[in-house]
Amino acid sequence: DDDRPALTVEHLDVTYGRAVSALRAVTLTVPPGEVVALLGANGAGKSTLLRAVSGTLRLHRGAVTAGRIAYGDTVLDGRDPVAAVRAGVVQVPEGRRVFASLTVDENLRSGGLGLARRSPARQRQASERVFALFPRLAERRRQAAGLLSGGEQQMLAMGRALMAAPRLLLLDEPSLGLAPLMVERIAEVIREINSQGTGVLLVEQNAGMALSLADHAHVLDVGEVRLSGPAAELAGTDAVRRLYLGEE
Ligand code: ATP
Repeated sequence: DDDRPALTVEHLDVTYGRAVSALRAVTLTVPPGEVVALLGANGAGKSTLLRAVSGTLRLHRGAVTAGRIAYGDTVLDGRDPVAAVRAGVVQVPEGRRVFASLTVDENLRSGGLGLARRSPARQRQASERVFALFPRLAERRRQAAGLLSGGEQQMLAMGRALMAAPRLLLLDEPSLGLAPLMVERIAEVIREINSQGTGVLLVEQNAGMALSLADHAHVLDVGEVRLSGPAAELAGTDAVRRLYLGEE
């Protein structure tokens, strides 16, 4: 009775320019309302997959050369970011990319753009949700985003994405460069966002954090899916423990 869509990625090939093959025959699903983690070393193709889904691949001179991406009945491969946002699929880019000289409020408002005809009531609802999740941002609404700490900037980047009221949130390494306490805080917020009904596709090098949050997980290795399964199961496999959880 769950009528929310699933994200389906089928046999996806992505290349940059003419020569660089970044993804090969990648197949995975984000079932409605789930957190799905994507693990893998530097250069495995994790960001590339998020870009392909969010329609930002072209900005990086990449292209889908085979396969299919759909969110429910909406085909997403070869579309632009506005199409993805309209379908309810919104990416938080790696490295946060907040507008440093704009205030917290201005950054948040920029996240509702592309949804031009949205009612003021819906906008207010979205910003109330963001401030409830991130009270810290409410306290700093009139400060320049460049003055926030790294963790606060991550919160702002997530808050900005939530302003578009996504049904599926794509997160690229939200824990990158953050202190352990802040990583735990971000994990809590992801859990909270998910419990409110938003699906999450989470790219992480912090496998411990990702597997503790995720329902299912996939390990990418040089552009191909190597391992897939329930997160708890993957956390128990020798290869994942050795390679990604830092165990002997
Ligand atoms: P990281 O954690 O370093 O971002 P990743 O798993 O997200 O790693 P991608 O950034 O998706 O990996 O990169 C996958 C492959 O595509 C790598 O070989 C990378 O060098 C290449 N690549 C990524 N972006 C581009 C680009 N704009 N042009 C050419 N090659 C690229």
